[in-house]
Amino acid sequence: MATTIEEKEVTVFGEEEAKQLVNELRVAYDSGRTRSYSWRVAQLKNILRMCDDSEKEVVEALHKDLAKPELESTLYELGMIKNACKVALKELKNWIRPEKAKTSLTTFPSSAEIVSEPFGVILIISAWNYPFLLSIDPVIGAIAAGNAVLLKPSELAPASSSLLAKLFAQYLDTCSIKVVEGAVSETSALLEQKWDKIMYTGNGRVGRIVMAAAAKHLTPVIMELGGKCPVVVDSDINLQVAVRRLIAGKWGCNNGQACISPDYILTTKDYAPKLVDALKTELEKFYGKNQLESKDLSRIVNSNHFARLSKLLEDEKVSGKIVYGGERDKDKLRIAPTILLDVLRDSLIMNEEIFGPLLPILTLNNIDESFNVINSGTKPLAAYIFTNNKKLKEKFVMSVSAGGIVINDTTIHMAVHTVPFGGVGESGMGSYHGKFSFDAFSHKKAVVYRSFTGDAALRYPPYTGFKLRM
Ligand code: NAD
Repeated sequence: MATTIEEKEVTVFGEEEAKQLVNELRVAYDSGRTRSYSWRVAQLKNILRMCDDSEKEVVEALHKDLAKPELESTLYELGMIKNACKVALKELKNWIRPEKAKTSLTTFPSSAEIVSEPFGVILIISAWNYPFLLSIDPVIGAIAAGNAVLLKPSELAPASSSLLAKLFAQYLDTCSIKVVEGAVSETSALLEQKWDKIMYTGNGRVGRIVMAAAAKHLTPVIMELGGKCPVVVDSDINLQVAVRRLIAGKWGCNNGQACISPDYILTTKDYAPKLVDALKTELEKFYGKNQLESKDLSRIVNSNHFARLSKLLEDEKVSGKIVYGGERDKDKLRIAPTILLDVLRDSLIMNEEIFGPLLPILTLNNIDESFNVINSGTKPLAAYIFTNNKKLKEKFVMSVSAGGIVINDTTIHMAVHTVPFGGVGESGMGSYHGKFSFDAFSHKKAVVYRSFTGDAALRYPPYTGFKLRM
């Protein structure tokens, strides 16, 4: 359908259009094409080729949307996507193979296996902060598992969204893999349809809307959400290494606009001044004196997020606590790396996910108090601790509930494809990466094989005599 506004043709995407697209995908899926090993491999190889051919365009799009530094674009978006593709291509035969399962005496004689069956037609709704990675990485899982898939990228990264639409049409099987660009109304139209699985990446408020829509069709969901990722800093550490890794995870990941970026630090009152000094020194080494101008820092995505972050800084409970940074440029949407010391737990900044370059430090009498602070909040997507204390590490692993934990570093679990990536509680449900992506988009079908021998009389009526005495 098309309407004319000021002689410009605008495509309207509503429920009818959404319904038609889902039908097309279902026809493709029902034809069986997406289930063949060769189709899956061909699409994965096409994604690899697409990434290699389009590196320059991707870097440019990310620069337009976020002023993302080139290295972050090639390493954390394209590099991660290519790795995910290579792992899937290498392992796909093993993943697809039915898994033998043990049977019990009760079913003797029998054999059993678990067959990975594609769900069917998948909807993937992704977010703006890593627009390529968060779109293509789930698509890789959906394709590897043999599904047809529709991707809805985020409208807040428009250059990336339109490049994704263009590249998918150019490189992938357009009958079975489609992209719809758009915002709330387009996504709502898509959510009215029946999908076989939905994966949503974004904030919990919209996550609830997506889950409610999915519930109408009993569609299973994967929710990749966010939260406040804590970092505990003990005093028996290699401070310089710790601080460099903290900076890489905070400002080196899209200037703090990353779901697993450190959100706040917990350290002791005694250690905090040392930590702040080390942070200042390394930040200046990395980003120079005029950090608002640094080419190695992304800008804030848009004016709404800029205003939201500014409000957090202007809160009277924290405005006097800035010990480093705080500079802002509204026109260029830039905020410099900013450290706030001795922030109180009831301030605004401690009551929402920051998702930007502000880093509050909360000080404690002793490091053990950090467990209370973390566990009294909602469960984060990631939690980090820097320490050499074995007991403290063990306690952290055993008593902090988070999507993932890293000891003595930040964010790098994202790059370990043998562990699942996902949240718990408010930070999400379900997980992906590596084999977990394949499993996320596969139904695990139980198959039990019997022959006609060994037909035990016990299960058949009449239930009398020796059967009752068993
Ligand atoms: P966003 O604004 O890009 O929204 C995400 C998607 O939801 C978009 O595709 C958007 O079109 C859609 N959407 C927005 N409003 C909607 C509505 N009313 N109905 C239906 N769809 C709607 O991204 P965001 O939410 O600002 O992303 C930031 C959040 O996402 C943070 O909380 C962050 O921690 C989280 N996040 C999580 C992960 C993860 O892997 N767990 C990754 C990135 C971001």
